[in-house]
Amino acid sequence: MTHDAAVLKARGIASRVLAPSAGQNDKAGQFSDEAVVSLGESGLLGLMLPADVGGSGLGPRTCAAVIATLAEADASVAMVYLMHILGTATLSAARPSAAQALAPILREIGAGRHLSTLAFSEAGSRSHFWAPISRAHRNGDGVRISAKKSWVTSAGHAHSYVVSSLAPEGTGPTDSTLYLVPAQTRGFSVAGPWDGLGLRANASAPIALDDCQVPADFQLTDDGAGFSAMLNVVLPLFNLGTASVALGLCRAAVAGTASHLKSAKFEHLDQSLGESLPTLRAQLAAMQIDTDGLSARIDDLIEHLEKPRETTMLRVLESKAAAGEVAISVTSAAMRVCGGAAFSKHLGIERLFRDAHAGAVMAPTVDVLREFIGKSLLGMPLF
Ligand SMILES: Cc1cc2nc3c(=O)[nH]c(=O)nc-3n(C[C@H](O)[C@H](O)[C@H](O)COP(=O)(O)OP(=O)(O)OC[C@H]3O[C@@H](n4cnc5c(N)ncnc54)[C@H](O)[C@@H]3O)c2cc1C
Repeated sequence: MTHDAAVLKARGIASRVLAPSAGQNDKAGQFSDEAVVSLGESGLLGLMLPADVGGSGLGPRTCAAVIATLAEADASVAMVYLMHILGTATLSAARPSAAQALAPILREIGAGRHLSTLAFSEAGSRSHFWAPISRAHRNGDGVRISAKKSWVTSAGHAHSYVVSSLAPEGTGPTDSTLYLVPAQTRGFSVAGPWDGLGLRANASAPIALDDCQVPADFQLTDDGAGFSAMLNVVLPLFNLGTASVALGLCRAAVAGTASHLKSAKFEHLDQSLGESLPTLRAQLAAMQIDTDGLSARIDDLIEHLEKPRETTMLRVLESKAAAGEVAISVTSAAMRVCGGAAFSKHLGIERLFRDAHAGAVMAPTVDVLREFIGKSLLGMPLF
């Protein structure tokens, strides 16, 4: 599959599967299994996997374009897809001793039949996902894990979960290890409902691990090397992906607002809203400028990821911090410009507004990213 073919497939799924049901799924808080099946059948679940396990071997540029395209129609599905891409990237980068056990799972992903996700955040350490409270305990060749994972996208729908836990002999708060926990593992359960303000259709429910046995083959990193995998494998793609979700939301807000300004009429003046009011045209223009600015920032990040350099980590941190703010600002402007029609939920604009707020809550949060950026500019240690 080429870059263009992948984006075309994403567009097809967005218009055929996502757009018709996004509003209803949001209202009901309903996870779209249909969307996941379509993503699997189109080959997009294995987008970044190598060809030898059935993947397309495509990179961050295509991943970002696919995510933004999906998010324009339904940000909940785009986030499910992003968390799957991250789970898959972690499996793909696992230590060599896990390769044989993981190969059949990677082939299932390549064949579009397996959805993965990340289960990092814990109730005890909240948004500080890099410091799990749970600790793995040695049991024969493997470990046993009990943990309260507070928010897990695709909870109860994913086939596997990449779980963090403190290494059995870890001494510091970031001495974590990553493990693969298949959904059918004894002791694994969805521990509550998901009824969020935004991204309501992505099942980001808590999960509980109650003395789950994880064999040595499913230990994805060396003991204590989970933190490094979080920073080097997960964080760059996560920040790129959440920025791309934000971009899709902004594009949808601009398109929805333009459409409303063209179709809604002041009948007594025989003019559309857009024809009548320069202030609305100016606000629409500002939304477009911010959206294109975000798009340029994402392109810059992609170039930094494709050709890593000294400033790459700074760009990684900046991208999510900036994108979250832009998405909130652009969707807020859309709410204001579309007025009562948006407020009374006739246009779907308020779903974009609510979904945009999730990006700021998802860790690393904007506050934490600013802290990291400020500290790194001053040469201070981040952790
Ligand atoms: C829709 C959605 C999906 C999610 N999916 C997943 C998933 O798939 N897997 C997963 O592991 N997690 C997931 N999460 C969890 C997410 O990444 C966060 O861990 C979670 O939202 C924690 O939020 P909190 O407000 O309780 O954090 P808190 O730590 O209580 O933060 C509260 C406030 O304090 C601020 N703050 C915290 N620390 C600092 C600091 N050091 N400096 C400055 N300000 C700080 C925060 O910015 C925030 O404003 C998801 C969250 C959402 C909303």
